[in-house]
Amino acid sequence: MTSSQELFDRAKTLMPGGVNSPVRAFGSVGGTPRFMVNAKGAYLSDADGRDYVDLVCSWGPALLGHAHPDVLAAVHAAVDHGLSFGASTPAESELAALVQGRVSGVERLRMVSTGTEATMTAVRLARGFTGRDLIIKFAGCYHGHLDSLLAAAGSGLATLALPGSAGVTAATAAETLVLPYNDLAAVEAAFAAHGDRIAAVITEAAPANMGVVTPGDGFNAGLSRITSEHGALLILDEVLTGFRVGAAGYWGLTGGSAVGTERWTPDLFTFGKVIGGGLPTAALGGRAEVMDYLAPLGPVYQAGTLSGNPVAMAAGVATLTAATASVYAAVDARSLELSTALTGALSAEGVDHSVQRAGSLFSVAFGTSAHGVQNYDDAQAQEVFRYAPFFHSMLDSGVYLPPSVFEAWFLSAAHDDAAMNRIFDALPAAAKAAASA
Ligand code: PMP
Repeated sequence: MTSSQELFDRAKTLMPGGVNSPVRAFGSVGGTPRFMVNAKGAYLSDADGRDYVDLVCSWGPALLGHAHPDVLAAVHAAVDHGLSFGASTPAESELAALVQGRVSGVERLRMVSTGTEATMTAVRLARGFTGRDLIIKFAGCYHGHLDSLLAAAGSGLATLALPGSAGVTAATAAETLVLPYNDLAAVEAAFAAHGDRIAAVITEAAPANMGVVTPGDGFNAGLSRITSEHGALLILDEVLTGFRVGAAGYWGLTGGSAVGTERWTPDLFTFGKVIGGGLPTAALGGRAEVMDYLAPLGPVYQAGTLSGNPVAMAAGVATLTAATASVYAAVDARSLELSTALTGALSAEGVDHSVQRAGSLFSVAFGTSAHGVQNYDDAQAQEVFRYAPFFHSMLDSGVYLPPSVFEAWFLSAAHDDAAMNRIFDALPAAAKAAASA
């Protein structure tokens, strides 16, 4: 069998950096990226013949675990009817109805192929609907690689320590106002200064691309209030959190929750990852009045050759159907067990840290125990150097973590006792490695 090293050497002659998405290159942790050849349940297997308990879960989609039998069966059945029709199919409405049944603010949904397309379209739609130009985003929030949202964008930019991307024009950058996360006063001030020019505020429902950050009490509700006071839209980016942290995403845990103190609903939601169950599908949805501004009903153009692809729709329908309350309860429970064990192991070695949580998502930040990570400045000020030795120790013990401290850890309903025990057994040595970094 060809080894990961040989495969990486070859890939580098064929693709920039040998990868098709930057964080996969192990840039911030060093070493040879593992080339994966199989994924089943809680495990990944690499080309070197080793297996790993997977804490990346395809960066979110594998909520049920990899290759869940219901999802595979649905995909096989769909494939038998053809791969792509270039015309409408019944499965698109089936998936849209499942989303609508879970997220009441979604009166209309448009399927696209990636999270980037979903946020890009949401931004264009907000501009078309309001007739305004400016967009507010928060430093450290990642919404995909559309030009206008690449400033201080977290995720791979945080990993590579890039302030933004080359190739984005100054004119485009000038149409985005970047504000500190968790700071409603900064949002109020921006609206006081430019209120009649702001089309939308876009925010991750709970940030998970600068590591995980918990939205402060009332932060998302405050954004909803301020935008509606000024005739702007709130775009809630649930590409990562949607259908992962709960049946109705992070919004369902907070704004949409009957037990929440403040109920609020964004004008537009964006979804990705879990909605396609591992195949390339994403979506935007929201109020009919806004969504109907999209072509063919309205003047805002958007289209896609593979949008609503029947195989991807089948994977999404099977995934959301199988994602019952017990799946979310299992993932919540595993998340709590693991984050508790993680804190225990790091504390035993005297490693200053905070575990950052939002629903079942969490991440670790080093040197941040004093007040945790509230925003991108806090995230960047942490002791990043402790992560690489921690990561490699875990990898050597057969646990595949995100290869960057700025990414969330993902669990699935397939993480059983055996998988969890492997992680627990690996933690003490990794904590030691972090301590001595
Ligand atoms: N929004 C958020 C919150 C994300 O986490 C991501 C990807 N990690 C995206 C948008 C972009 O999605 P995609 O990678 O499918 O383009």
